[in-house]
Amino acid sequence: MKIITVKRDQELLLIPDAFIDVTDGEVLKNKALLISKGRIRKIISSDAAYRLAEREKIKYLYLSGITFMPGLIDCHVHFALDGVDFHQALGRWDNEVLLNEHVAKAAANFLSCGVTTVRDGGDKECIGLKVRNSIKDGSFPGPLVNASGYVLRKDGYYGTFLGAGIKSIDEGKEQIKELSHLGVDQIKIAVSGIVSFKELGKVGPVQFTQEELTALVQESHDQGLKVMAHASSDQAVRISALAGVDSIEHGFFVSTSTLELMAEKKIAWVPTVAPMALLTEEPQRKLRAPEEIEILEKTYRPHLDMIKKAETMGILLGIGTDAGAIGVEHGVSYYHEVRLFHQAGLSNLSCLQAATCQAAKIIGREGELGEITLGKVPRLTGFMGNPLNNLTVLRNPACIVLPEFN
Ligand SMILES: [Zn+2]
Repeated sequence: MKIITVKRDQELLLIPDAFIDVTDGEVLKNKALLISKGRIRKIISSDAAYRLAEREKIKYLYLSGITFMPGLIDCHVHFALDGVDFHQALGRWDNEVLLNEHVAKAAANFLSCGVTTVRDGGDKECIGLKVRNSIKDGSFPGPLVNASGYVLRKDGYYGTFLGAGIKSIDEGKEQIKELSHLGVDQIKIAVSGIVSFKELGKVGPVQFTQEELTALVQESHDQGLKVMAHASSDQAVRISALAGVDSIEHGFFVSTSTLELMAEKKIAWVPTVAPMALLTEEPQRKLRAPEEIEILEKTYRPHLDMIKKAETMGILLGIGTDAGAIGVEHGVSYYHEVRLFHQAGLSNLSCLQAATCQAAKIIGREGELGEITLGKVPRLTGFMGNPLNNLTVLRNPACIVLPEFN
């Protein structure tokens, strides 16, 4: 896995075998990209690129056998957790050395799996936000991070590790203002609890009334921030949609009529199948009781059907792993979430769109990322082979291209 870092003042020509235009699935052969001042400036023929390189003395990289697509985006991760042991991860929060070691490793794992951008779903200590800033200032290499800071949640409900919990909506509005001052990229609200592994269809209770949630979403939008809503259970998804959140995260047990509401209100969906499905596969499967496996399977399989239904309705879908959840490791889980989308019945192209251009829209960076077009920041993932023909190449990316500074 090769990391190609483009310096701010560098001019560079990239000459691979092909580029994939993810918007329509077109494969562009014999083309080259000219990157300068941190943006894609020209797309020219490879012949013209060699001539330009010689004439203008521009550095070029010939990448034999490589097919580039826009850099992979993970719409839902938690840097603060480790995907292995929840309590051990929380124990690390007070130990600066161990925590730094963990987050730097998670950041490196994303890159080595071709993930060049992630959206962090938050934690009580704003670890995801600190990671964003550390990567930005060059403390360690990592993907571009959209950070949530801490999570809005109601006191006494699910998510003590996510945020302090609010006792009133006024307090919630104060937290949103504070997060805005801290420079977060979006607001995360915990609207429901989590899915039970013990009782099929059971989800922790909805935390807010319709009126309360609408007020929190309004305040976030007034601060210019999108809202990602942790919502499982049909009721939680429905009130989130009615409140006008920007994306539904998880969304287990959503009904067809609620999906229709999401489609009508143009609300995106990050269904995070991995945290359920990967527990039913080895190596996690052997750690769980058969009854639990059965509940997990009965939870995620209908979820896949709803993903296909959502696609048919035109809902914007994004790949999000919930990396950090048990069994969901940073980086390596990405391929599995894509594989599960494919298992849901989405075409290779639809899966790649959920991983790139659609994900860029969901995280509010469609102007910069998600396509290989003029003016975009060069964040690319390269594969040996064409993922449109075979998604398994996503398992082992050959290289990534990143700007030196985020
Ligand atoms: Zn999450």
